[in-house]
Amino acid sequence: MNPLENRRFLLQRRPHGTPQRDDFHLETGAVPAAPQGGMVVRNHFISLDPAQRGWMDDAPSYMPPIALGDAVRATTVGTVHESRNPDFAVGDWVLGLNAIEDYSVVTPGGFTSKIDVSIVDSPSRYLSAVGAVGLTAYFGLTDAASPRAGETLLVTGAAGAVGSMVGQIGKILGLRVIGIAGGAEKCRRLVQDYGFDMAIDYKDAHGAKPVDALSAEIAAAAPQGVDIMFENVGGDVMDAVLMNLALHARVVLCGLISEYNAPEKIGIRNLWQVIVKQATIKGFLIAGYVPRFAEGGAAVAQWIGEGRLRVDEDIQHGLENAYDAFMRLFTGANTGKLVLAVE
Ligand code: NDP
Repeated sequence: MNPLENRRFLLQRRPHGTPQRDDFHLETGAVPAAPQGGMVVRNHFISLDPAQRGWMDDAPSYMPPIALGDAVRATTVGTVHESRNPDFAVGDWVLGLNAIEDYSVVTPGGFTSKIDVSIVDSPSRYLSAVGAVGLTAYFGLTDAASPRAGETLLVTGAAGAVGSMVGQIGKILGLRVIGIAGGAEKCRRLVQDYGFDMAIDYKDAHGAKPVDALSAEIAAAAPQGVDIMFENVGGDVMDAVLMNLALHARVVLCGLISEYNAPEKIGIRNLWQVIVKQATIKGFLIAGYVPRFAEGGAAVAQWIGEGRLRVDEDIQHGLENAYDAFMRLFTGANTGKLVLAVE
C-alpha cells in the first residue's frame, strides 16, 4: 500500500445473482482525517464473509444495506493511525466493523475495541479463531443446539471456517460428527485434519448430487438419524439432510450460502420432515450473543491452547484483489477462514 493513499473497494451496483467484477470499483483518494472524538484506523487484515453478500442487497436484514457508492462493510483488524479519542493511542491494535479500504474513519461510539495481539500467533486470529467465526461455532453448537454426548451431529459447509470448528467442538463434546463438503480433498481434511467421524461429498463428476442420492448417503452414515443438524448451506443439501432427521432433532439454521447468489429464492421442499420428526428449527445469529462473548472466547482459546481445536485461515493478499478473494467463498476455493491481508 502507498501510505499517502486510501484505496476503497466501493459497491457501485447491487449484484443480481452472483456478484460481477464491475458491481464494484476500486477508488483511490487521500487518507482521511480523524473526526473530533474519533480516529482513523489503518486496516491490516479484512474479514471476507458470506454475510457481506446479504448486505449488498436492498432487503430487510439485521443491518442496513451497504449504500451504493460506499466501501463494502467488513470487520477489520488494524492499528490506530490518528487518534482524537483519549482511550486510543496511535499504534494500538483494534478490531472493528469498518470496510474494505486501507484506512477507516471511526466515529465515536462505534464497535471498535482494543485487542491484545501478543496472545495470538497472528492478529488475523481475531477474525477467525477468537473472532466471530469461533464464537459462532461455539454458541451455535453449545447453546443453540443443546447437544448431549453420544448424539449424532451433521454439519453442512463442514470444511469451511465455521463448519470445521463446529465439527471439532462436537467431538470435544462427545458427539458423533458427520460433515458434508464439496470435493474429495475437503472430505479428506474433515476426517484427517479435523477429526470428524465421517465425511460426505455433496458433489460428483457432474456437479452437485441429486437430493435423493445425497439423502441415501446420509442415511447410510446416520442409520439412527441426525439429532443435530448444523446448517450452513441450505438448498438441496439441506433438503437431503431433512430426510434423515431423528425424532426430536434440533436444526440450527446458521447460514444458507447456496441461496445467497440465487436471483430467485427456491425454498426448502422437505420442511414437512420437521413435523414428522417433531423437530425444532432455530435461527442463529452471533450478534445475539454479544454479552457472552468473553465466555465463548475463553472456551475457544483454551481448546486451541490444549491443541484440541485446529483453525485454518485462507489469507489472500492485496486490497486490489478484493473481488477475486471474496468470490472464493462461493466457488468453495477457500480453505479456512477467508481473510484479505492489506498490503
Ligand atoms: P466458509 O469458510 O464455510 O466458506 C463458504 C463455503 O461454503 C465454501 O468454501 C463452500 O464450501 C460452501 N459453499 C459455497 N457455495 C455453496 C453452494 N452453492 N452449495 C454448497 N456449499 C457452498 O464460510 P464461513 O464459515 O464464513 O460461513 C459459513 C456459513 O456460516 C455461511 O452460510 C455464513 O453465512 C454463516 N455464518 C452465519 C453466522 C451467523 O451468525 N448466523 C456467522 C458467521 C457465518 P464447499 O467447497 O464445501 O462447497
